Amino acid sequence: MRRLAPAVALLVALAAAGGAWHLASKLTARVRPVVAPAAAAPSQPAAPAAGKRPAPASRDVPARYRGQIIRKRVRHFPDKLLALTFDDGPDPQITPLVLKALAQYDAHATFFVLGKCAKRWPALVKQEAAAGHAVASHSYGHPSRTSPAEACNELDRTSALIEQAIGLRPQLFRPPYGITNGNLCQTPLKRGYTGVLWTISTADSNPIGPEVIARNAIHTPNPGDIVLMHDGTGHMASARALPQILRELSATGFRFVTMPELLQAWQRWQAGQQAPAHAQP
Ligand SMILES: [Zn+2]
Repeated sequence: MRRLAPAVALLVALAAAGGAWHLASKLTARVRPVVAPAAAAPSQPAAPAAGKRPAPASRDVPARYRGQIIRKRVRHFPDKLLALTFDDGPDPQITPLVLKALAQYDAHATFFVLGKCAKRWPALVKQEAAAGHAVASHSYGHPSRTSPAEACNELDRTSALIEQAIGLRPQLFRPPYGITNGNLCQTPLKRGYTGVLWTISTADSNPIGPEVIARNAIHTPNPGDIVLMHDGTGHMASARALPQILRELSATGFRFVTMPELLQAWQRWQAGQQAPAHAQP
């Protein structure tokens, strides 16, 4: 080892650390439910959030998805991964409950925050990122239609607030009401954001109880599904449904990842599917 040049030694060390993290995350993923979040980093002193995960790579959206809208899952994707997504937050009553449930099951999710809420509760946005979740943009004030200038304003204000809170600019955007043909979706796409819709809705915008919300998520997920939920003001039923969703789907082998992690997994799988065609003996 001593003969290795310092740069090579550093690379070896980094590779070992990355492998250890990967192995550790695989192991923890298999043991469910996982113990309380307080035990998550026992041997580390209070480290900055960025030190807990192999950031920034795991937060990055693969280039092929930039400027694209994700509206369906990749067909035949085999890995039992789900991306839970929470819109319209953060909220001081709802978001902490959501974060607590996610931590209990070692689950990661994506929060499509509203700029106006991020401005009011930046500490919650910070907590989301510190716990390893992805923070994404859902516009500033949730309008349904905007002029081109208003769309730029909605996008820029929200991205700046997210960056102030967590030190990273969002790469993902979800248009309010899922409207994709207006300026509010087309502007971020032109700028290289990835638009993310959903493949399963829990219908939790309707006045339904936690039991029905949970059933809507648990009913028939397929590997790679993107699940729509809300953690905005008033969505207590969604927060109450979440532990059951996590418990039942974990028990059937699903793991919960952020949108960037899901897109990376899609990309890896698709690359693997294409490889055999070029590898004729
Ligand atoms: Zn919304």
